[in-house]
Amino acid sequence: MSSLNTPAILLRRIEYGDYDLIVTLFTPQGGKTSAIAKSAKKSVKRFSGILEPFSRLDVVLAKGRGKGLPVLQEASLEEPFFKIREDIVKTAYASYWSELVYLWMAEGEPLEPLYQLILHVLAELNRGGTPVEVLSILFQMRFLSLAGFRPNFDHCHTCKKNLDQIRDAVVVSDPARGGIACPTCMGSSNDRPRISKGTLKQLNWTDTGDLERAARVRFTAAAIAEGLTFLESFVPFHIGKSPKSLRVLRTVRKELEKQVFRFTC
Ligand SMILES: [Zn+2]
Repeated sequence: MSSLNTPAILLRRIEYGDYDLIVTLFTPQGGKTSAIAKSAKKSVKRFSGILEPFSRLDVVLAKGRGKGLPVLQEASLEEPFFKIREDIVKTAYASYWSELVYLWMAEGEPLEPLYQLILHVLAELNRGGTPVEVLSILFQMRFLSLAGFRPNFDHCHTCKKNLDQIRDAVVVSDPARGGIACPTCMGSSNDRPRISKGTLKQLNWTDTGDLERAARVRFTAAAIAEGLTFLESFVPFHIGKSPKSLRVLRTVRKELEKQVFRFTC
């Protein structure tokens, strides 16, 4: 039996039998790691209030020789990020980011920059200093780069005209071809999301330099809407899966818009 002591972010937990939980952790050195928390549902003392989604934990994992899951032996709460879980909008965004990591990562393959990225956006989301939509743009842009799917915003994929040479102010999103097309090449008979060249440049800025500075890019409300529409179709397309949490996020956002509308009318 070998044991590993590591920081971890709790991506997901599911019930297993009457007493146990299976938790999926994201660790800097071990990547996505599932483990069984025995008696976690029954024992009030051991893991009570600790195995909460999005929390930053320190854990001890024990691995036997067989093929079974590692056993979560100890867990201590280092960053509870409880302000995320008490806010339905923040919870919806954090669930989406966590599910992207969960769906895309293979078990046991480390990717420390992605660990640092999600830790950063969760901490910022909890702190509340940056608009949640900007954090989501930042997370998705950098996630795409780390996953090797960075969109090509520099030129039309068909005629190869640079963004600055395209005369239209708005271009067409084309996830299947990995980027954008000019309206001339794409034609007018498609319903793909359109995005302004100005927004594309801002999306690029969120993927350069340090995270703190990148989160200070100032987006207009229209640019945020365009950026989110673009990324929330681009990212699921490239990981080849539809995150359930994205449907929830869209519902939560719609409800919020309705409330704002009612309040202002
Ligand atoms: Zn073109």
